[in-house]
Order: sequence, then C-alpha cells, then structure tokens
Amino acid sequence: MKNTVLITGASSGFGKVAAKLFHNKGWNVIATMRSPEKETELSALSDILLSKLDVTDAQTIQHAVTAGIEKFGRIDVLVNNAGYGALGALEASTEEEARKQFDVNFFGLIAVTKAVLPAMRKQRSGTIINVSSVGGRITFPFSSLYHATKFAVEGLTESMQYELNPLGINLKIVEPGGYKTEFAGRSMALFGANGLADYQPAFDKFAAMLDAWPMSENIGEVADIIYEAATDGTEKLRYPVGHDAVQLVQTRQQMDDVEFKKMMTAQTDI
Ligand code: NAP
Repeated sequence: MKNTVLITGASSGFGKVAAKLFHNKGWNVIATMRSPEKETELSALSDILLSKLDVTDAQTIQHAVTAGIEKFGRIDVLVNNAGYGALGALEASTEEEARKQFDVNFFGLIAVTKAVLPAMRKQRSGTIINVSSVGGRITFPFSSLYHATKFAVEGLTESMQYELNPLGINLKIVEPGGYKTEFAGRSMALFGANGLADYQPAFDKFAAMLDAWPMSENIGEVADIIYEAATDGTEKLRYPVGHDAVQLVQTRQQMDDVEFKKMMTAQTDI
C-alpha cells in the first residue's frame, strides 16, 4: 500500500516543493491550500488530491482530512507547513495582528494536528512534521510575535512526543534558515514601528539586514529534510536546515544569553 502525506500551505514555497518530492517518491499526496482553484502545476499530477484547507477554518480542515482518508484510506504523515511572519516592534502591533499570527502559526497547526490524530491513533502509526524555523531556536530583533509562535511550536511538539510515541506516532520539527520562497513577500506582514519614532531607526536597520540576508534559492534542501524526517525511522526530533540555520543554532548553544544578545546587536547594528 502506498504511503499518504497531507501537507498544509502547499500553494508555494516549501509546501509545494515537498508535495512534488513526495509525489516523485511514489506517495499519495493530499496537497492542501487556501485557494486550490488557482493551482495548475500540482493539479496536473495523478495521486495528488488538491484540497481547500485554511488552517484557521475548522470546516475546511475537517473536510480536507475526511476527503483525503476517503480517497487514500489513511494518512501516514502530516506536514504542518502553513505559516507567515508578522514583524515589527511588539508595541506597534495591534491585538488583531498578534492574535492572527498565533491563529495561523500555532492554533492552526494544533487544529490540523487534532483533525489527523484520530486516524493515526487508529492506525497506531504516523509521523507529524511541524515546520518551525531557526527562529524557533534563536531570536532576531523586531520578530517577537513570529518567534513566540515558533518557540511555542517547538515546545508543543517536544512535549507531544510523550503522549504520542506510545501510540506509534512520531514527532519531528524542521527548522529552516532563510530561503527564497514567498515568505519574504506576500507571507510577510510588516507592521514595523507603526509611527512610534523611538523604534524607527533600529527597525530600519533590521529591515536593511533582512533585505541583505543571503536567502538560499535551494528550497529543495528543505523538502529533502522534510522527506528524511518522514522516512528515517529514528527518534531524532529537530532538523535544522540551511547553512545559516545550522550555524546559528550551534552559535546559540555555545553562548549564554548575554553573549548571544551582544553578538546579535553587533551584527544588526542595533
Ligand atoms: P510561502 O511560500 O509564503 O508559503 C507559505 C504557505 O503558507 C503558503 O502556501 C500560504 O498559503 C500558506 N498559508 C498562510 N496562511 C495560511 C492559512 N491561514 N491557511 C493555510 N495556509 C496558509 O513561505 P515558505 O517559506 O514556504 O513558508 C512555509 C513555512 O516555513 C512557514 O511556516 C514559515 O514560517 C517557515 N519558514 C520559512 C522560512 C523562509 O526563509 N522561507 C524560514 C524558516 C521557516 P497562500 O498561498 O494561501 O498564502
């Protein structure tokens, strides 16, 4: 029997490349996205079920999971990939912006996970891969809301191992560094300093650093790591991916809080 993967946020970036990779490896793929009617590439492939799924909309989640199980019989791997970045000074954010960041990156991931778990428990097998970020291990300036969601995903995932491993379900965290996807474009909600002059000069420096960040074009690297996490059969939990991510995680492990903050402020000139 072919394995089946359900991927959220498969309209672009890591999600789309991962959908193509799993398909190439012979898997059934439930490629979910907010606007499947716009997708032309994945819809042309066999054994890919394109489903509408907005992680903030319970009905679409249930519908996509049910349709996937009806078509393929099971879900072996869930890739919680959908997400975006809300960046700026915390004080400059509205409550709505803060809640939306958590609704998508954190509560959305929980909702999809809870929708898939009954099938995985019944099977007594499955792997849940949560796409966090290097920003789930280290922090940059002016990204507090984004980091808060990704640190939350890391803690959630690590703890869930205790209750799910005995039921045959594995947990994995993929932590990409900077990659050229739609993330720095339409998936970035920049509220910046929002007119609060005290933050503006430092935010401008941060924005310049972000612009100059050497984003890798090799998105396939992340899909490869997602596939490895899905299939390596190990208990390994965290998969940092990308030169910058691996280096930043290592640096963080070697420095105490004060040393790391000094390094980051020096690098960003803030
Ligand atoms: P991307 O190309 O912008 O993909 C983001 C995906 O999330 C899109 O498919 C988007 O769908 C989807 N999405 C956003 N809100 C959603 C919602 N409410 N319901 C369902 N889908 C939603 O960026 P990406 O880089 O591949 O991002 C994928 C994941 O990697 C994110 O969790 C991000 O935090 C993480 N990440 C990215 C980087 C990076 O440098 N690229 C680094 C570390 C971590 P629409 O097409 O409908 O907008």
